[in-house]
Amino acid sequence: MESVIIIGSGPAGHTAAIYTARASLNPLLFEGMMAGGIAAGGQLTTTTEIENFPGFPEGISGPELMVRMREQSMKCGARIKTQTVERLDLSKRPFSLFLDSGETVEARAIVVATGATARRMNILGEEKFWQRGISACAVCDGALPIFRNKVLVVVGGGDSAIEEASHLTKTASKVILMHRRDELRASKAMQKRAFDNPKIEILWNTIPVEAKGEKFLSSLKIKNVKTGEESEIASSGLFYAIGHTPNTAFLGGQIELDDAGYVKTVPGSTLTSVKGVFACGDVQDKRYRQAITSAGSGCMAALDVEHFLNDHT
Ligand code: FAD
Ligand code: NDP
Repeated sequence: MESVIIIGSGPAGHTAAIYTARASLNPLLFEGMMAGGIAAGGQLTTTTEIENFPGFPEGISGPELMVRMREQSMKCGARIKTQTVERLDLSKRPFSLFLDSGETVEARAIVVATGATARRMNILGEEKFWQRGISACAVCDGALPIFRNKVLVVVGGGDSAIEEASHLTKTASKVILMHRRDELRASKAMQKRAFDNPKIEILWNTIPVEAKGEKFLSSLKIKNVKTGEESEIASSGLFYAIGHTPNTAFLGGQIELDDAGYVKTVPGSTLTSVKGVFACGDVQDKRYRQAITSAGSGCMAALDVEHFLNDHT
């Protein structure tokens, strides 16, 4: 029987692995096999340069940062298996975990660090221009030279879309907020922020249908969903802010989730509704969604596990 099993291999999972290994808890981490549509290593493996993770003044590539976190986990003594946890039985301790290989393992404590997957629209040209003008994270990528002083498009009408559009106005010449309806879903305060920003123009009832350009994105074919009319606009950036899907389906309703499907944690901790199960990173955070905040909560989960195992031998 394992003392602690960590599910997920992004910054949250690896930080939890480093801390629990250093606390002599001999953690076992399941890194997943394209779980949630993402390779082992998590969302950062889908991006290029990371410029906001402390300790790398020259920046570091997302995949390389994750390779380093993995190496550090192993160096500290964590064991890593490239398997996906398909389902759990949390009805009694020790908990049971059922793997994609057909094996079952037991653990006294579990850390859920399975992240979230940014939704994409899969428009024509998206594969070609992904990270060459198309992104799902304005806060992460907006300051890159290809987007500076350019006209950029943010798709979505929720709080994230407005937050991302506002963020981009600091460096872009203009930001077009493209929404499929004629009213925003975002809170009134956030809506005001968009309406009051002279650099944000809202394009209602519109969706992008095709990304175009040579090496980098330079224009978008767009469609008015009310009239069906199609047209083309110049844009060097297309940022999706159409929501994330937390990777919680495999929990099978055994842990309390919020309305959007994120794991509910006791504020200021990583405790979930099930004693002995802890959650960290994007799977329980729909607000900040950054590598550093995920890593920070991974550390919290490890410390919470340590306390729990001390009290429940
Ligand atoms: P994730 O990174 O989502 O990793 C979770 C992992 O768990 C995945 O590998 C998944 O396959 C695995 N998994 C899921 N389910 C299972 C299962 N059942 N069994 C086993 N494994 C499973 N943040 C920044 O701070 N700076 C940036 O520059 C930046 N750039 C970004 C660029 C892009 C394009 C995107 C999408 C995000 C970016 N982010 C950035 C955000 C950052 O990537 C996330 O906040 C962070 O990766 C979340 O970490 P996590 O550990 O919670 O989970
Ligand atoms: P939301 O689900 O709230 O909004 C997603 C938006 O994307 C909606 O406007 C939706 O349109 C649109 N959309 C979804 N799918 C498509 C598609 N296929 N094509 C075009 N448009 C699409 O997600 P958010 O990420 O904005 O917010 C998630 C949660 O996080 C919310 O609870 C939010 O309040 C919270 N949050 C809070 C912040 C803050 O307080 N500062 C900041 C960021 C998030 P439609 O409206 O038509 O459904």
